[in-house]
Amino acid sequence: MRECGDCTLCCLTHHIWEMSRAGKKLIKPAGVWCEHCDNINHRCTLYPNHNIVCRTYNCEWREGFGDESFKPTKSGLILDWHRTGSATPRLQIWEAREGALTSAWVKRETDILLRSRVFVAYMYLSGKMILFVPRWVQLSDEASQVYLREGTEIKTYPAIDI
Ligand code: SF4
Ligand code: SF4
Repeated sequence: MRECGDCTLCCLTHHIWEMSRAGKKLIKPAGVWCEHCDNINHRCTLYPNHNIVCRTYNCEWREGFGDESFKPTKSGLILDWHRTGSATPRLQIWEAREGALTSAWVKRETDILLRSRVFVAYMYLSGKMILFVPRWVQLSDEASQVYLREGTEIKTYPAIDI
């Protein structure tokens, strides 16, 4: 496992939910620095008592994906897999630097993944999310309704037009 080092970018990009018996509560929205992030010393001021979501999170670069140029502080992108509940797994590509989602690498990888029938989501700093669904895979009406209720834009590949 790699060290995060000077990177704290998931403390900016990601929304953080707290799960309890009472339900799901948003404790930090996407695209906003967490109030507990110390960006001078690159650390979490709650560490080691930060919540379980943060404690267990590792982006794909930290897990070993790509070389040093894929470090989020360099690429401006954070990759991870969303695999909760019965939802179809999707690769999420988070915008950690404005405009990074328009790179040629992102377009190429999106194309490869969708042709391999893998769902891909672009997660913008604004909080907007676009879910790309491979043309050959049927998204259930129930799942579509959930995404649309959350304000997610759904696009069917190959109609990539962003
Ligand atoms: S984005 Fe990855 S490398 Fe950066 S702080 Fe989060 S887990 Fe660490
Ligand atoms: S609680 Fe700590 S690890 Fe979690 S987002 Fe905030 S600063 Fe980052």
